[in-house]
Parts: sequence; structure tokens; C-alpha cells
Amino acid sequence: MAIRTVGVIGAGQMGNGITHVFALAGYDIWLNDLSADRLSEALDLIGQNLERQVRREIISSEDRDAAMARIRTSDKLETLAEVDLVIESAVENEEIKKKIFADLCPLLRPETILTTNTSSISITRLASSTDRPERFMGLHFMNPVPLMQLVELIRGIATDEPTFSALREVVDRLGKTSATSEDFPAFIVNRILLPMINEAVYTLYEGVGTVEAIDTAMRLGANHPMGPLQLADFIGLDTCLAIMNVLHEGLADTKYRPCPLMVKYVEAGWLGRKTGRGFYDYRNGDPVPTR
Ligand code: NAD
Repeated sequence: MAIRTVGVIGAGQMGNGITHVFALAGYDIWLNDLSADRLSEALDLIGQNLERQVRREIISSEDRDAAMARIRTSDKLETLAEVDLVIESAVENEEIKKKIFADLCPLLRPETILTTNTSSISITRLASSTDRPERFMGLHFMNPVPLMQLVELIRGIATDEPTFSALREVVDRLGKTSATSEDFPAFIVNRILLPMINEAVYTLYEGVGTVEAIDTAMRLGANHPMGPLQLADFIGLDTCLAIMNVLHEGLADTKYRPCPLMVKYVEAGWLGRKTGRGFYDYRNGDPVPTR
């Protein structure tokens, strides 16, 4: 089945980015969220992000206008009835996602492919709550979506081959690269990345190095574009902790034990950039290490 029209549910930071790249690639979009206000904020932000790409000469102003014209918004799921592909990117909460699928499935055509951008919830479990587990997959974008090249493709136990191939082609058309992961906790990128970040926090906790020493060591010693603590602040320490908990519980191995210092930062509400303070303090311009 040719995919032309795409429904994106959730107009947060990921849903915005997903809408942005699909619209630029020529897909018609229905972007859905809970309120008209949320949707108009999202549309403004997508417009600003496209404008930035025009200024940097990555796209032309005609590309921007054509992309914006392909995006329609609605706070009603009914408008998604005729789409060929749905990408669910609402909050990371299993009950909310299942409720969205329960409300949505009866509205969709039987051949419509359903996907989720979840970072950590089992694809097989979400698929089994729908009427189409064979046409259900994980389509996991990285943040920020317009800049990051990778999309993880995650098959649930029941996902059929035509669904998998259709989504691989979609990722190609976006100009991105896919990597295929089986459905195990945190998939590939976060399974490897988060234990490294957690180990960096243990290194800080045990006094092996300061924030600055750890980040400099990994930037210059391992050639990482960002230090692990800087990256943790960018992702959000609450998100990092949630993913470590998924690994710890899902794989039942003590090597995934979240570092108590990470827990303490989250309890303090020091969640990284988004709250102004994490392993660095961002409140007065240049980031200052907090340890
Ligand atoms: P966010 O909080 O920025 O946005 C979530 C949006 O979902 C909000 O606009 C909210 O109003 C909307 N929403 C909530 N309930 C809804 C409902 N019932 N119907 C429609 N919309 C609803 O979150 P985000 O960072 O964009 O994350 C979205 C998804 O993407 C999550 O599953 C997350 O795990 C995943 N993800 C996040 C990242 C990241 O770095 N933030 C990376 C990859 C994947």
C-alpha cells in the first residue's frame, strides 16, 4: 500500500519534529493533540524551525511553504480516519497510549499501519492492545528529529513483513537511515547509551572525576560530540532515570541499577536543561558544573 497521508498524535517536541520531516518529504499530515492551543503553538514552532533551515540554506523558501501547506491540525481523532500511516507520539504513558489506540482503531481503515515512537514501552504489549498487531510497529525517532539521521525500526512479535518493508521505505524517503531492533527493553540506542550515562554518574558519585573532568575525558578521549553528563542534561534526568528503570526491571540485571546520585538529582527537580539545572546550572548564561 502506498503511504501518502500520515497522522501524527502528540504535538510535543517529538511530534513536531516528526511532522516537520514528513511534510518536507512530501507527505500530507494530520497533526493531532488535545487542544487547539497546543496545536497552534506546535505549528508556530514547526514554522520557526523550517525558517531556520531556509536561513541556513538547507531548504528553499518554496520547500518551506510547500511543507507548511501539507500540515493540517485537529484535536479530534476522527480526522485521522483516512490516513495510511499513524505515528503515535503522545506522552510516555502506557495507559494513555492504549486509550489512544482503543479510541482510534475503530475509526481507521483495516489496512492502515499503526506505529508508536515510544522510547521504552514494549511494542508487542502495545500491539496486542490493538485490532492489528500484524500492522503495528515501533518507529523510534531521535531528538531533535530534523537533525538526527537514525530511525529505529522495532518489530513486535506479530509484525508482518509488508508492514516492516513499507516502514523501511518510508524511512528511506525521509532521507534517514534505519536500524532494526528486536523488541527488548530500550531497543538498541538507549540500551547502550543509557548505561554509559549511568556509569558516568557513578564515576561522579564515587569521586573518580568532577563533572568537567568526566565530560572533557569523554569528549576528547572517546571523541564524543558531547560529554555524557552534558548529554544527560539535554535528554532530561527524569527521562534517563525512567529508561534505566525500564532496563533494570525488564532485564532483571543489577548492572542496570540506576545510580543513587541520578535519583537524587531527579528528586531535587534538577532535571537538566529543561528545568535550568542538572549536572550543570544553566540559569545565568554559560553552564556551570553543579559538582
Ligand atoms: P512531550 O511531552 O513534548 O509531548 C507529548 C504531547 O502529547 C503533548 O503535546 C501532549 O499534549 C500530547 N498528548 C498527551 N495525551 C494525548 C492524547 N491523549 N492525545 C493526543 N495528544 C496527547 O513528549 P515528547 O518528548 O514529544 O515524547 C513523545 C513520545 O516520543 C514519547 O513516547 C517519548 O518516549 C518518545 N520519544 C521521546 C524522545 C525525547 O528525546 N524526548 C526521543 C524519542 C522518543
